[in-house]
Amino acid sequence: MARLVMKFGGTSVADIARIRNVAQHVKREVDHGNEVAVVVSAMAGATNQLVAWTREIAPYHDAREYDAVVASGEQVTAGLTALALQEIGIDARSWQGWQIPISTDETHGAARITAIDGAVLIDRLQRGQVAVIAGFQGLAPDNRIATLGRGGSDTSAVAIAAAIGADRCDIYTDVDGIYTTDPRVVPKAQRLAQISYEEMLELASLGARVMQVRSVELAMVHRVRTFVRSSFEKPDEIPAAEPRGTLICDEDEIVEKKTVTGIAYSKDEAQLTLRRVKDKPGVAAAVFGPLAAANINVDMIVQNVSEDAATTDITFTVPIAEHDRARKVLEDSSAAIGYELIQSSPDVTKVSVIGIGMRSHAGVAAEAFQALAARGINIRAITTSEIKISMLIDAPFTELAVRTLHSVYGLDDS
Ligand code: ADP
Ligand code: ASP
Ligand code: MG
Repeated sequence: MARLVMKFGGTSVADIARIRNVAQHVKREVDHGNEVAVVVSAMAGATNQLVAWTREIAPYHDAREYDAVVASGEQVTAGLTALALQEIGIDARSWQGWQIPISTDETHGAARITAIDGAVLIDRLQRGQVAVIAGFQGLAPDNRIATLGRGGSDTSAVAIAAAIGADRCDIYTDVDGIYTTDPRVVPKAQRLAQISYEEMLELASLGARVMQVRSVELAMVHRVRTFVRSSFEKPDEIPAAEPRGTLICDEDEIVEKKTVTGIAYSKDEAQLTLRRVKDKPGVAAAVFGPLAAANINVDMIVQNVSEDAATTDITFTVPIAEHDRARKVLEDSSAAIGYELIQSSPDVTKVSVIGIGMRSHAGVAAEAFQALAARGINIRAITTSEIKISMLIDAPFTELAVRTLHSVYGLDDS
């Protein structure tokens, strides 16, 4: 007997037939004698619709009312899933975030979970009742509903798994695991049997939207064994031993260690360049201080060594949604910084190569640069860490770059 969290994403609960299918997956685990807490997303497209309505009525909306609206999608699927389970003879009830409670901080729209009281859930599970929990939502200190940011049901699931001491957190989605890159972009991508928390964290933060970044952080901190798998497999055809999927786990557990594990990309970046900035102490602080004060996240930074010891260029990236605001902040601080020109290009993509094997292998970056050069792809900026290399390129080359890197590192399915 095990205690499980089973999380189902939007496409897995997209309509009534799919919700009935979810109930069958849950029944399979209950029939095996397991205790099950289910976490559900809103039906596919529902959250987008709710967000669009809030924007239509108030472009600069009150984030607390935004949360009241967008959290409702998960309330619907939690209730429907509980009903579907009851219909096939399984004792189940739905839970909203505030009923458990799942406590969050006060950052409405992108709240972080601060605490979950697992006691009541554990008691119900031990009595044989399936708990169907609305993902993506919690209760803020102002006693109002808060949502966890887009894709936040993954985080609800992992946090609940940690709170109730679950043996495993299964993330059911529309792909049967984590692939070497997005299988919708590269059909030759291969499913990974295992991936380390660290690599998954990089993959998620560098653009693979398959799991919310925060959920991977929580899984890593609380050592939650997280298994990504498909809800589209027939519930009665899944083998009890070795089901298909990807286990996110400790690095030590990984059997087959590769140098490069995956490629991710993000179109969510915009590049800004300050030309002929005075090359003197304090300039970087003058540029990035006001951006930080405006809460704008700066990612890649490149500063050239100046040729004449008088001026230099600084290039960096910000989230595309912050591009206009960042430009305004820089224009407002132009006197303090002292530059000649701002140039910006929103049409860029960050492509990243990830793998814990990079720690011990030299030359991984050089291979990427050569491969992109051979395809005529210009690299605008580079950042590296111990286990990743990120390159900023022109957006129209995204797919070519991802496919090229995927094949250079031997990740193509032969
Ligand atoms: P859900 O609605 O179940 O939360 P998401 O749409 O959030 O599902 O995430 C699943 C999607 O993530 C897949 O359909 C796939 O296109 C995308 N994806 C991106 N990168 C990867 C990857 N490396 N491995 C698997 N899926 C990926
Ligand atoms: N329904 C929310 C969203 O679409 C949360 C989630 O699906 O994880 O972002
Ligand atoms: Mg998701």
